[in-house]
Amino acid sequence: MTDEGEIGILVRGLSIVVVAGEPAALPCRSAVSGYAAGDWIPVGSVDGRPCCAAPLADGDGLGAGLALTPVRALFDRLSLPVLNTVGRALALVEFEVMHRHCGRCGLLTKPVPGERAKRCPAGHGTFHPRIAPAVIILVTRGDEMLLARNGERLRNVRLLHVTEFQRDPRDVLG
Ligand SMILES: [Zn+2]
Repeated sequence: MTDEGEIGILVRGLSIVVVAGEPAALPCRSAVSGYAAGDWIPVGSVDGRPCCAAPLADGDGLGAGLALTPVRALFDRLSLPVLNTVGRALALVEFEVMHRHCGRCGLLTKPVPGERAKRCPAGHGTFHPRIAPAVIILVTRGDEMLLARNGERLRNVRLLHVTEFQRDPRDVLG
């Protein structure tokens, strides 16, 4: 982190603004507030510092030392707690942007007190952030585990011994 104070996560699609350099860092909200295109949304905290997120305004101009970076490129440059907060920021900013207006009548939606939701004032419904569940299953037999690269390569599915996978997995799966 750049210094103490509230963290500001600016989001555009699946990218966020970070302080350029190694290691990557999330900027202070005060340093990026001029680039926000909407209200700041509380998304949690990191190391006791509150974090807010907002959509990044259109345009290419970012201040010196700031970089718009795909979150996937930050997987090994930010800690897991920070990435958890960044993931929440992506989801909640997308929710705010996509549900600013009712999809049926176009009226501005209103926040629902006490929950993370937006409601059409004309009664067309209450909208909640999308949930994208994922299931990961490990199939084992003794010291072996079942691996497959993708569905088109099912003919290559085989059980691998744990010691075999401890080499570079790309060699095993290639
Ligand atoms: Zn409506």
